[in-house]
Amino acid sequence: MKNLESLVRPNIWALEPYSCARDEFKGMDAHVFLDANENPYNDPINRYPDPLQEKLKERLAPLKGVRPSQIFLGNGSDEAIDLVYRIFCNPGKDNVVAIAPTYGMYKVCADINDVEYRSVPLLEDWQLDTKGLLNAADAHTKVLWICSPNNPTANDFPREAIHEVLTNFDGIVVIDEAYSDFSTNQPFRSLLDSYPNLIVLNTFSKAWASAAIRLGMAFASEEIIGLFNKVKYPYNVNLLTQEKALTLLADLPTVDGWLAQIKREREHVLPALAELPIVLKVFPTDANFVLVRVTDANRIYRYLIEQGIVVRNRTRVQLCQDCLRITIGTRQENNELLGALRFFK
Ligand SMILES: *Cc1c(COP(=O)(O)O)cnc(C)c1O
Repeated sequence: MKNLESLVRPNIWALEPYSCARDEFKGMDAHVFLDANENPYNDPINRYPDPLQEKLKERLAPLKGVRPSQIFLGNGSDEAIDLVYRIFCNPGKDNVVAIAPTYGMYKVCADINDVEYRSVPLLEDWQLDTKGLLNAADAHTKVLWICSPNNPTANDFPREAIHEVLTNFDGIVVIDEAYSDFSTNQPFRSLLDSYPNLIVLNTFSKAWASAAIRLGMAFASEEIIGLFNKVKYPYNVNLLTQEKALTLLADLPTVDGWLAQIKREREHVLPALAELPIVLKVFPTDANFVLVRVTDANRIYRYLIEQGIVVRNRTRVQLCQDCLRITIGTRQENNELLGALRFFK
């Protein structure tokens, strides 16, 4: 890895961050708070929330096998994705490398930040073209994006292939593990101490069943997390979200139960899809969704909509012609989908 300073935008490296009232006052006992121009009424939402979400990070750290100082929390993974560009990529000058097809936000955030986005197609069976990825990088490549399990293909990439990229690329490697809880593979966040150039993304939106609270996680070295903290909005995660997440963390068996149920349902849905005459291929999945190639994605998509069932039509995505992406729902929802598909003519 190049040294961190040479990878960071000079203005960000030099940035003196906003110092909020709650940063300046820390630790000591106080009971009269007249420092932040808050309203004394309407407790508890009258007060600014903890800018660094320390309680939440204390609870998350042991669960994720990292230290609290290696955690960034944001307004969805989307915030972390955007911050990666704003921290590392000089607009109009630097570039990033990513796989294709993959999650759309990497490209959208690149475009918003005026950063060149170089995509390298996956190989047959949705495998990682490690040589292609490394060859696509040049002296201005700051970041390499890998999503595993990948959206929309649903597969995990082999660990050796990811290790090869992590070892041979001298910039930042982001591994988006939004779906890793649905996979049997060991997540990469446990290797933070071996790879100073690694950033791992997680989210509360999928396995934690909390897309509405907008809570995303990034795990990285303490130095990189320090940069995230410097650039983020001071109070980027609101109090209601922090409290809701703490409530969830206090009831892990419920969350584990949802996860187990979705994995069981996946085993029910996959073979049933494969039996349908309109399904040409069910791609292997390590996530809570499955990509299927069908006889006519546009017609089947519209037919399902008429039945009140929405799936994701991916037919216009690179390499995904006639593919639908289908999320695993409850037993009843899945049966409704399968029933409708059996009647498609
Ligand atoms: C759903 C998803 C996320 C989650 O994004 P949030 O902003 O946290 O809701 C992140 N990455 C991928 C690849 C996803 O599919």
